[in-house]
Amino acid sequence: MIASLRRENPARFSEIVGTVPVSSPDAVDEVVRWADAEQRAWAARPLTDRLAALTRAAAAIEDAIEELAPLLARESGKVVGDCRGELGFAVRYLRWVVQHAPEVYGDRELDDDLGRLVERRRPFGVVAAVTPWNAPVILAMLKIAPALAAGNAIVVKPSPLAPLTVDRVIALFDAPIHAVHGGAETGAALVGHELVRKVAFTGGTAGGRAVAALAGDRLTPTVMELGGNDPAVLLDDASFDDDAMDRLVMASFATSGQVCMAAKRLYVPQSRLAAFVDAYTRAADRVLTTGDPLAPGVTMGPVISAAAQRAAQALTPPGAIPLGRFEADPATGYFVRPTLVAAPDPDAPLVIEEQFAPVVPVLGYPDEKTVLTWANAGELGLGASVWSADEEQAFAFARRFEAGFTFVNTHNRTGMSLRAPFGGVKRSGWGREYAHEGLTEYVQTCVIHAPAAFRPGTATPPGGPSAYPTG
Ligand code: NAD
Repeated sequence: MIASLRRENPARFSEIVGTVPVSSPDAVDEVVRWADAEQRAWAARPLTDRLAALTRAAAAIEDAIEELAPLLARESGKVVGDCRGELGFAVRYLRWVVQHAPEVYGDRELDDDLGRLVERRRPFGVVAAVTPWNAPVILAMLKIAPALAAGNAIVVKPSPLAPLTVDRVIALFDAPIHAVHGGAETGAALVGHELVRKVAFTGGTAGGRAVAALAGDRLTPTVMELGGNDPAVLLDDASFDDDAMDRLVMASFATSGQVCMAAKRLYVPQSRLAAFVDAYTRAADRVLTTGDPLAPGVTMGPVISAAAQRAAQALTPPGAIPLGRFEADPATGYFVRPTLVAAPDPDAPLVIEEQFAPVVPVLGYPDEKTVLTWANAGELGLGASVWSADEEQAFAFARRFEAGFTFVNTHNRTGMSLRAPFGGVKRSGWGREYAHEGLTEYVQTCVIHAPAAFRPGTATPPGGPSAYPTG
């Protein structure tokens, strides 16, 4: 009998939103072999044909947004407006890839007095994508779109905590793409499969370590997008006006703080700490309402699971400041009261580890040197932000962050750019998504070279044909 995975609604856990079949290792093997067989024909099609298939998929997803957004909200607990935004962003990204693929994936030719050289961008074969639940559609799409455009087949293993909408999106493609479902065991069967030639992983440190080890054992190259503990540093002249504070609050609490690059720890000048707490709590009163993700006016839903709810509650110290309006019942859904924790110990776990929860610390700092040391401490280096009325000063400060992506006067969702590569430094991962760098992750460069000395009709020069040593 095939086991199935039942996904409950985190806002109302008595409601089962849907089920998917769990893929056994044998089922994963069958899917990967099937994808491998399809890949050859797909890669042999002209790039324009493949891109036309992706354009049709973009239109089909766009047409389904109104139906898929509530499904995504019910399985993930994200507010329905954000789900609509995520699906729309996935469509925009797919179209961006269609637009830019020809310049990245085309052959490059040189024919000059050193010889004739062709650089070809070849697909890897079967790509395995292992993805998390917190933005399940876009984080899968960042792998699906370039992998398929480049001529790969792709097998996606979504998180068991949000498999339903991704499954539906995958079914809208007329291309070699398949889903397998389950947890770590299914992921391991996929990543370790002998016919998988590239692995793209997004998730946390522990899962990333396991996946990288499995891939390393087979010498399969990987793209790793891992966790973050983003600092937001407000400089002396940073504005606490309503707009800035509203943006900062939602940068921490969208998706209940469960975003890789949420503003996870806030640093303000010590002398302005009290004024900041006042401005921030007033902003939360304006923009933060916790409740059912499908209800109008709600801006924050539940966390993803009972374990996440317990972890968030354990992280919340006595004296934490409750934020915004709370119209939810933690006994029937995985709701957590969002809080601000003022002036905790700079070394507290809430500050130095990724909390992935709606509990946010704010610390007063004595001077810029100290805050930079605090901000750069730790193993993670995904995102960061600096806030200042002086853009030059902000950029100068930002250059000193150890982070893959630094925002100025915003953080996270209001600051992403398709034209800029995204990915972490230190132990936040390697490889890039978005922009041209994100496209090049899915091809390998192969070269055909006729050195000038050996081209038909050319005499070999005295002293040997090549100045380059071989190795
Ligand atoms: P996770 O690591 O628990 O799971 C991610 C995926 O890996 C899931 O599909 C899971 O089933 C699979 N997986 C887990 N262990 C595995 C194993 N041993 N072998 C094979 N597969 C395995 O992460 P999550 O809880 O779903 O997501 C939250 C984490 O992801 C946070 O740390 C967050 O910061 C990070 N994240 C990073 C980015 C980014 O772009 N850098 C984006 C979103 C989330």
